[in-house]
Amino acid sequence: MQDLSHAHERMINVQIAGRGLSDSHVLQAMREVPREAFVNPELEEFAYEDGPLPIGEGQTISQPYIVAKMIEAAEVGPDDRVLEVGAGSGYASAVLSRIAAKVYAIERHAALAEAAQQRVDRLGYDNIELRVGDGTRGWPDAAPFDAILVAAASPDVPQALKAQLAIGGRLVIPVGEQRWQQRLRKITRKSETEYEQEDLGAVAFVPLIGEQGWAEDARRAAGNRLAGRAHARTLPQVISDAAEALPAPEDVAFARFVDRYADRRVILLGEASHGTSEFYRARAAFTRQLIVEHGFTIVAVEADWPDAAAVDRYVRHRSVGTSMEPPFQRFPTWMWRNTDVAAFIDWLRAHNEALETERRAGFYGLDLYNMRGSIAAVLEYLDKVDPDAAAVARERYGCLTPWQKEPSTYGRAALTRGFRRCEQAVLEQCRALLEKQLEYARRDGDSFLDAVQNARLIASAERYYRIMYYGGAQSWNLRDTHMFETLQHLLEAGGAASKAVVWAHNSHIGDARHTEMGALREELNIGQLCREHFGTDAALIGFGTHAGTVAAASDWGGELQIKQVLPSHPESYERLCHDAGMPRFGLDLGRDEAFRRQLLQPRLERFIGVIYRPDTELMSHYAEASLPRQFDAFVWFDETTAVTPLGPEHARDGVPDTYPFGL
Ligand code: SAM
Repeated sequence: MQDLSHAHERMINVQIAGRGLSDSHVLQAMREVPREAFVNPELEEFAYEDGPLPIGEGQTISQPYIVAKMIEAAEVGPDDRVLEVGAGSGYASAVLSRIAAKVYAIERHAALAEAAQQRVDRLGYDNIELRVGDGTRGWPDAAPFDAILVAAASPDVPQALKAQLAIGGRLVIPVGEQRWQQRLRKITRKSETEYEQEDLGAVAFVPLIGEQGWAEDARRAAGNRLAGRAHARTLPQVISDAAEALPAPEDVAFARFVDRYADRRVILLGEASHGTSEFYRARAAFTRQLIVEHGFTIVAVEADWPDAAAVDRYVRHRSVGTSMEPPFQRFPTWMWRNTDVAAFIDWLRAHNEALETERRAGFYGLDLYNMRGSIAAVLEYLDKVDPDAAAVARERYGCLTPWQKEPSTYGRAALTRGFRRCEQAVLEQCRALLEKQLEYARRDGDSFLDAVQNARLIASAERYYRIMYYGGAQSWNLRDTHMFETLQHLLEAGGAASKAVVWAHNSHIGDARHTEMGALREELNIGQLCREHFGTDAALIGFGTHAGTVAAASDWGGELQIKQVLPSHPESYERLCHDAGMPRFGLDLGRDEAFRRQLLQPRLERFIGVIYRPDTELMSHYAEASLPRQFDAFVWFDETTAVTPLGPEHARDGVPDTYPFGL
């Protein structure tokens, strides 16, 4: 068994206490119960992640935070007799047993109940009585209860459970028809006949199936209602009816799919992995079309600003910085150092050559990871334009120097040493540059924009690494907000008529509000921010695949491997697209409302990043989303292939090292 003690403690501090839960009994009980003992061995390493995990029979062990929240809301105390409906893995019962006098737990799946019983026996928690049955009827022989917790969602509050509450007793239960429209309710019994109700916010649970809950096929029943009742055609047929067949991305006809969005200010192009050739080639084809035919001049990608700036200098035929390191040297190098990106960059350089300087299209990075590169770039710029200011900047950035190489360790230091000085210093430096805008920009507007953007990146990165220690939504949100603001600065700098294409992962560009990220974890992303800001002037285009190969690592910082992508999950959007039976297509999700409505019900969607772990794929790579709300269009490649990383065999004569793809 792995040593998960650090992850366990962090879960308590960050996910539970960090979100405002403070009942000392609950915190102590969560500390005592090893969650890894309640999941299958292959999922142990995820035991303290901030989410539910599969436990078999299509069921889940609840997110730790929600377990703690429900117990705290139910005000469970040491003398209490508690009923838990939906024991699942037995984890919540175990936590309850560390607080209450006696726990009664009911689970409808015999196999789960048996495994749960073995776990609590092994841990010696002997004040739990567990049985198989329909918990919507409660446990009349043991009633009344001081608290009842229900771990599955019901269309209404079961009467039997209300009746089995002691006077003063508390029932905590998720209620709602659809997975994302459930509310956590607390019902307190005030007297024989009176109950008080409180709303505790949005939640997403599996259905409570039983006499006073859902019928056996509850999820499907709710889904069909949503989709407008039984349709004559299956969903794959509906998709194939609406799909526009596409040729390979190299065919000129492929790119015409994007013409319908040509009048938008921003077009965001996604990808379902960071290592799939077809996604890069498709985005390159769309982008070429948008640049050549529709006047787009900004290509902004999910890459670090200073690295992309080196590419930008290359494609816009500007002079190359002297002290810059070659770009894209950090993990995952294949994301930008691959043959598809190199081909696009070469095309962009050739396209720009014939144009006047101001009409050339640029290549920019939206991301904030290369703080070291940005510091070097700001200093190099100031050395050139204002050596006195460079000396001050060196001093200001000095406090970050020890962390430049490994900024992810900065967060801990920032916490333990009260590192306010750095925060002040990097903000002051950013301000100082902006104050000199008129003076500096007069010499060279492009170089000034580059320096200011680097200074902004350093300020964002300082905050990012400081809060990254806490994990969770905040650091993700800061990163995507930084990406969005960088895009805005680019559009502003380009003037009122400027138009941008964005390349980033589906998880960044598909509107987060319609995925688990936003609905359950309060994460936002650049796609959502673009919609909120630009409205229908933004188009969000997602990409997907069924199977094939992908370039990815098994761990952060690990070796690049070419891996097989497993066939898509039977309950995913990808499987619907696969079953539509076409090798490539585009789906315009805004064209036909009846079609759109049929796909609205949230389903699984696959997200492969730079890491791909087929062994734990469902857990590590699938999340629920409502595809037609998330994107304006979806581009499908049934089978895809891994990108080819640049190697010595791709070296080209006469291309210097400092150029993006000199090797
Ligand atoms: N508290 C559990 C844990 O920590 O693992 C969470 C389990 S899961 C979210 C909900 C469980 O409720 C599932 O195992 C499901 O089989 C069970 N369930 C659904 N309807 C039920 C019912 N009527 N009676 C008892 N269990 C039910």
